[in-house]
Amino acid sequence: MPAPTCFSCHKSRAALRRPRSGQALCGSCFCAAFEAEVLHTVLAGHLLPPGAVVAVGASGGKDSTVLAHVLRELAPRLGITLHLVAVDEGIGGYRDAALEAVRSQAARWELPLTIVAYEDLFGGWTMDAVARSTAGSGRSRSCCTFCGVLRRRALEEGARLVGATHIVTGHNADDMAETVLMNFLRGDAARLARGGVLGSTGEGCALPRCRPLQFASQKEVVLYAHFRHLRYFSEECVYAPEAFRGHARDLLKLLEAARPSAVLDLVHSAERLALAPAARPPPPGTCSRCGALASHKLCQACALLDGLNRGLPRLAIGKGRRVLQVEPPQPGNPSLVTSDSVAPPGPCTCKQPKDKANPCRNGGDRAGATCVSQCDLSPGNGGDQAGATRVSQCDLSPGNGGDRAGATCVSQCDLSPVME
Ligand code: SF4
Ligand code: ZN
Repeated sequence: MPAPTCFSCHKSRAALRRPRSGQALCGSCFCAAFEAEVLHTVLAGHLLPPGAVVAVGASGGKDSTVLAHVLRELAPRLGITLHLVAVDEGIGGYRDAALEAVRSQAARWELPLTIVAYEDLFGGWTMDAVARSTAGSGRSRSCCTFCGVLRRRALEEGARLVGATHIVTGHNADDMAETVLMNFLRGDAARLARGGVLGSTGEGCALPRCRPLQFASQKEVVLYAHFRHLRYFSEECVYAPEAFRGHARDLLKLLEAARPSAVLDLVHSAERLALAPAARPPPPGTCSRCGALASHKLCQACALLDGLNRGLPRLAIGKGRRVLQVEPPQPGNPSLVTSDSVAPPGPCTCKQPKDKANPCRNGGDRAGATCVSQCDLSPGNGGDQAGATRVSQCDLSPGNGGDRAGATCVSQCDLSPVME
């Protein structure tokens, strides 16, 4: 059967059916519709005012490639100027190739490009060094937790460096729906309340940032790249398989198969979510170290770096950071970090019998607590609570005691990745 005629121009043969509307369109009418929808998102949300200098978070992947291309098309109408800002997380065998893709895009589109590296910004820490530090004897599942927080900070630094007034990122509707699901699954009300907002106005000293592709489905982002002949880097990060986000993605696919509108429904749910007064988080203060917005003494980035520099990386995740003391940061020396370099925070006062050859590193010092001899999560994080039950799928294992024979689990532990 021949392809139908394009629903829009009524001349060319249709090349696709839009996944959501079912409209049959030719490639160029689809691209025009896609660009018009992004323009509408930007204008209706007052996201990028005329005169804005926009830092485009560029990773070389499909989303940021499409975002940069669409905004370059729209820039004259919006009256904005663009500057690509790429972040080098220091992930061997992955990011180098992705950065090559960004460089070639910048050259082809004649856009200025600035690359900022974790290693330079964060006292020598690269993601590979963070992964070694957090993994213990197994593979770390919290890489994306660290990486997400540090990348946000790095992008902010890069945007300031180039004199940007606004930041845009390439998150699409599927990314947003995954984030909403993850926040529900974690019971993270504060993030749920923020998650549906199309763009932040730049609270505190942060630059305003927004996601112009927030209502574009992943399928359409890929189709746009295809019809515009955009080249992008499509390999998966080496740490991605460990991420909790993968479970949310799988769940979302199942939901979408049963209900095609599930992705956008979730995005709109988060937009409309209103928290009861009792559930609202207190207004954020400022980080005592860097001045960024923070709901504790330290902002997320400073807390994570503090934990890394102290050899207690997991202590800085989730509520664990509440127990971090605000101390001057130690000079990071990731080149020396090994699984054995997790330093004990002090002598153990645990009442439980312990093997002298295998002393408790982390306290377990509560009355009636069960010592978690190799877990580096206690005290203060559930690992040492009386009555804790072992959870065989504890996501702290392997390497942190959660899966060892006779280990005491950490059933109330809240240190699983929460901040991707
Ligand atoms: Fe960073 Fe995780 Fe993304 Fe890799 S998958 S770049 S570790 S956030
Ligand atoms: Zn800070």
